[in-house]
Amino acid sequence: APQIVWLRRDLRLADQPALHAAAQAGPVIPVFVLDEARAGDHAYGGAARVWLHHSLDSLARSFGSRHSRIVLRRGDAPQILAAIAAQTGARCVHAIRHYEPWWKEAEDELRDALGEDAALELYDGNYLLPPGAVTTGSGDPYKIYTPFSKSLLERMPPRDTLGEPGTISSPEAWPESDDLDDWNLLPTDPDWAGGIRDFWHIGEGAAQERLAQWSESVAEYDEARNLPSEDGSSRLSPHLHWGEISPAQVWHALKGRRGQGWQTFAKELIWRDYAQNVIDQFPDYARTGYREGYDEVWRNPNRGHLIAEDLRAWQRGMTGYPIVDAGMRQLWRTGWMHNRVRMIAASFLVKHLLIDWRHGEQWYWDCLVDADYANNGVNWQWIAGTGVDSNMFVRIMAPLTQSAKFAAGDYIREFVPELAHLCDADIHDPPDGERGNYPARIVEHREARERALTAYRDSRGE
Ligand code: FAD
Repeated sequence: APQIVWLRRDLRLADQPALHAAAQAGPVIPVFVLDEARAGDHAYGGAARVWLHHSLDSLARSFGSRHSRIVLRRGDAPQILAAIAAQTGARCVHAIRHYEPWWKEAEDELRDALGEDAALELYDGNYLLPPGAVTTGSGDPYKIYTPFSKSLLERMPPRDTLGEPGTISSPEAWPESDDLDDWNLLPTDPDWAGGIRDFWHIGEGAAQERLAQWSESVAEYDEARNLPSEDGSSRLSPHLHWGEISPAQVWHALKGRRGQGWQTFAKELIWRDYAQNVIDQFPDYARTGYREGYDEVWRNPNRGHLIAEDLRAWQRGMTGYPIVDAGMRQLWRTGWMHNRVRMIAASFLVKHLLIDWRHGEQWYWDCLVDADYANNGVNWQWIAGTGVDSNMFVRIMAPLTQSAKFAAGDYIREFVPELAHLCDADIHDPPDGERGNYPARIVEHREARERALTAYRDSRGE
């Protein structure tokens, strides 16, 4: 009988355990359902839709070259998959397990919808270890990164990787499929996605190429990763998010590279596993602060504070702080932002502007090609100090100092052309006469810092 493979963010042929198992069991019907209503406020953002379009296009070609195809459908995933199973006589749906709360729910609904007629088989494949598998001595999941990371490292390397399936045979008849172009995932008027197309090669082949290149650079990672002006990090995040490559593939390709670069890089990959473990324990984590008592800290329109203008200046990269603005414009143009600058910009929103982190989480969600429910929520709460781990609120990053310390001059020149004429000494904190039409600072660092610390102390009755 035919085997259905339900694709979500696991858009690859190699090391795809669900596809592998299906291909061994019978003719394969790969299905991707665009189920947009399910995720609510975390439906695919604008940049994610662009990535998804190109990634599906690339995967369809790969299946095509194996004389197979992808069936594209739009609507309620469990209902559609159950209907395809009934129509084709498939007895099994194979899928890689996903941990976003809406996907867990969909998996349960699919099991119900299939009833006695077919089974749902779930596989682990997108993390170094299955979320929930790393536990304390007493069997509880970890809440804090460092002990989690130590414990996970003891169980490395990850499982062996799988190649592409030897054969992918076709069913006798293909269920009907939508045309990808009809989904209108790409913007048309205006077409703002040119920057994303220029910056990225999308799809499994591109992910493998980037990994090969990166394996030559990982030795430098420990120093280079903090320098936004350099191409010093792997830029694998969207490929990993969409499952065009698996972390096990990354680990096995690089593990022979000894030295500090690889070790630091491995810790970042472990952050990704850690974040999934957090949302596995706290499914609402990207929506609700873990620590309470912060509602009084943020400026709040319901209490008469006006935040719209500041929020807009931050979103547009018009705060008057070059490093923040360069980051926000890089995000807008390319769908990605350097990690150091993600931290600086996030801290600026939450502390200098005293705006609730959830506004920032939503903006990143809409603009990032690697927008990831777990990574985004966990990192925003980490910066805001509202999360399960250490409380970072009172550690307020000084954007001008950070910019100089991490030599962001060329980065600013690239993304804030109004300042391109300035020399390294001036560019981080442009003198008044040299700013041209670049905006004035919307808040002063010292005052903003004091305001944040006071709001925080007041909220605690100190
Ligand atoms: P590298 O430095 O090469 O790291 C390798 C991989 O490790 C990354 O591709 C990523 O999968 C993982 N990783 C690295 N840092 C982290 C981290 N802090 N947390 C979790 N995983 C990590 N990353 C996302 O993938 N999606 C997001 O939506 C996202 N939102 C973020 C929001 C904020 C406020 C901050 C501070 C960070 C966020 N990150 C997010 C984490 C990090 O910034 C990106 O993963 C990283 O910049 C991607 O670039 P890279 O692939 O070159 O990373």
